[in-house]
Amino acid sequence: MLYPAIYGNDPLFPKAKDFEVVYKDEMSGKGVICYRAFRRGEIIARMSGEIVNDIRQHTLQVSADRHLYDVYFSGYFLHSCSPNISLDMENMTVTAVKDIPANSYLYMDYAETEDHLFKQFPCSCGSPYCRGWVGGKKDMLPVMQEPVLRAVNQ
Ligand SMILES: [Zn+2]
Repeated sequence: MLYPAIYGNDPLFPKAKDFEVVYKDEMSGKGVICYRAFRRGEIIARMSGEIVNDIRQHTLQVSADRHLYDVYFSGYFLHSCSPNISLDMENMTVTAVKDIPANSYLYMDYAETEDHLFKQFPCSCGSPYCRGWVGGKKDMLPVMQEPVLRAVNQ
């Protein structure tokens, strides 16, 4: 189990043989890699952690004012605008939305769960559908303002 024993032993909790939080690169920092394959639609793990009232670097939003602080697993999911996992914050489950080969990083879309990000950043996910900027659902997207500013300055 990636989680400490105090969290209990839910059979869906991520196992250390299947997942690991690893350092990816300077740009991304740490991410979660899976060592086994998952089929699209498969529930791959259940998340756990501490419920807090503030947004932190490794929190995921559960409801308007509740956030899951998980420094063992889900707090390290990387972002992609074409994610391979989807999070159900009510049931605390992680589902594969694509077939995921073994030795893949897990990518969620931060805007799926977050209204606001602890820290927004430019996106380099490489997806053809990349939004160019990573923010929460309710964050203003600076890239969307850019064409307007350019027009004003011309
Ligand atoms: Zn992107």
